[in-house]
Amino acid sequence: MKALTFRGKETVRYESVPDPVLETRTDVMVQVELTAICGSDLHPYHEREKGLDHGTVMGHEFVGEIVEVGNEVVNLQRGMRVFCPFSTSCGVCFYCRRGLTARCVHSQLFGWRENGAGLHGGQAEFVRVPLADTTLLLLPETVSPEGGLLLGDVFSTGYFCAEMAEISPQGVYAVVGCGPVGLMAILGARELGAEQIYAIDAIPGRLKLAETFGAVPVNFRECDPVAVLRNATEGRGADSVLEVVGSADAGRTAFELVRPGGVIATVGVHTGDRVVFSPVEAYDKNITYKIGRCSARHYMENLLPVVEKGKYDLGAVISHRLPLNQGVEAYRIFDKKLDNCSKVILKVCE
Ligand code: NAD
Ligand code: ZN
Repeated sequence: MKALTFRGKETVRYESVPDPVLETRTDVMVQVELTAICGSDLHPYHEREKGLDHGTVMGHEFVGEIVEVGNEVVNLQRGMRVFCPFSTSCGVCFYCRRGLTARCVHSQLFGWRENGAGLHGGQAEFVRVPLADTTLLLLPETVSPEGGLLLGDVFSTGYFCAEMAEISPQGVYAVVGCGPVGLMAILGARELGAEQIYAIDAIPGRLKLAETFGAVPVNFRECDPVAVLRNATEGRGADSVLEVVGSADAGRTAFELVRPGGVIATVGVHTGDRVVFSPVEAYDKNITYKIGRCSARHYMENLLPVVEKGKYDLGAVISHRLPLNQGVEAYRIFDKKLDNCSKVILKVCE
């Protein structure tokens, strides 16, 4: 089959790789219809996140059709259209039972193989899905494939970030980073009742989208976000900050923005080795710091009705729709934020 593979720093290749095969009886094979590039793919792409085996099929966002089913799969059949969280989960362990599917004891991340072990990703014609019964969800007729794709990661992750931020209608919130996940965090915050959201980035097109989604855009190259948030809160700072970048600079901005007693909710994947504020700084502000991987399987199920109702124009974040064979160029465009790029979808088959 054809796939986008990791071949070292800033190098992905569109190439032929062996067709995946079912490996355990609870696997299914999915023929990928749509896949996407995520900000999370950029961390191994730049080798900020190290250890990814060369030759690994990239990507963890996909929807498609089941074409082969393991003997012990009970709920799924060939021909079913499914959408998928970015990691697998068993549905029965201590963590799954509490909705913390990201920490399932059997969890594997799509598109992550290290020392020969792990799962290939979804930027390919076919992808093997382990623990299929408890990982995949059926895509209802009422939800578009693009809607399913965005639910599998970015919308779920944005909502999760907003949930960690303890939103209330009276609060004043700052979202640091207006990539696809940050934009979804704005919608997540609104869904939870937020009315005053300041969205911080330096890319005009993304700030424009943030504004369309109901936030006040703040270009940090043109003004000081800390001053903006202080002005909006009688000098206190944001009640919560949703940090959706994953860099030391953004982490520090979040710390400066939050008011005493506030919450920093971080979904940005940090690759530095330290938290960017000291224990005493945190103490002196009485902050709560929450961070982690989204339990996408859990949120997808809960957010499906929101997407079905079409309450938000999630698809507005998609700026590019390209075929898989233009994936290498798509990585370049998304990484360098060229051509007003906000999110790239790759079409694999009809
Ligand atoms: P992206 O790279 O498209 O977006 C990041 C945005 O942050 C860009 O628009 C950039 O201009 C902006 N930015 C950079 N530095 C900034 C700063 N100092 N202040 C404000 N804005 C700044 O990525 P994305 O797809 O939106 O993903 C965002 C982050 O979320 C990534 O770190 C990704 O790995 C992470 N992520 C985490 C989870 C999870 O489960 N926790 C899931 C998906 C993605
Ligand atoms: Zn992702």
